[in-house]
Amino acid sequence: MAEASVHIPDLSATSTVPFTEEYAGAFGFQLDLEGISELPDVWYSEELNKVYCCRCVSFPVLMNVSFPLPSGSIIRAMAVFRDPEYAGEVVTCCPHHEQLLRDSSDVDHAEHLIQVEGNEQAQYFSNLETKRHSVTVPFEEFSKSTTVWYKFMCYTSCFVNMNRRSILTIITLESPRGQVLGRRCFEVEIYPKDELPCPKFEETFTINTSSQEEKIHHLKQEEFEELGNFRIMHC
Ligand SMILES: [Zn+2]
Repeated sequence: MAEASVHIPDLSATSTVPFTEEYAGAFGFQLDLEGISELPDVWYSEELNKVYCCRCVSFPVLMNVSFPLPSGSIIRAMAVFRDPEYAGEVVTCCPHHEQLLRDSSDVDHAEHLIQVEGNEQAQYFSNLETKRHSVTVPFEEFSKSTTVWYKFMCYTSCFVNMNRRSILTIITLESPRGQVLGRRCFEVEIYPKDELPCPKFEETFTINTSSQEEKIHHLKQEEFEELGNFRIMHC
């Protein structure tokens, strides 16, 4: 498996405060996350553009372009903190989960939060200046679509690093020379298996704060208690 933690130039994709603006670019770069919710232990809220997943559970991200790409184009995935206050900090695995992975395998990218499943062409990078971690795979040659299976190796609630702070996954489409051709983002929350919230919970409570408060106000007390328990129930 091609794996390496190596120095790469200070590409805009892995800069100190990476760009998160959606950018289809000249090739019409798009993500399709709809297939995720058909899998166990992971689901996708289109309204929130947010993936809810269990740690180490991989899910497919389908990437599409409208026009043929330059040969050698790649897909890069990188995590950043969503809140601008923390955007300059690097997202990593916590030491506990990093050590778990080191103990169970001989990978040299155990500190990377985002990892790729089932693609021997995946390459792991650590930018020596910004310390940003990222993983790349080639965009399938002569094709207008590529599917990459990602998994997240730490909990959002882990005390070290994420510490309940929301993260965005930035997916950049890059030319062989590192030029960003397109950029898409989605939010991710990672849970222990028995704490993954049900879609119904998020539809009811998270879509927006004002409607959330309004709905809670109108719920009978027993309904509220039942819905509130979704966070600690098996789905
Ligand atoms: Zn952790």
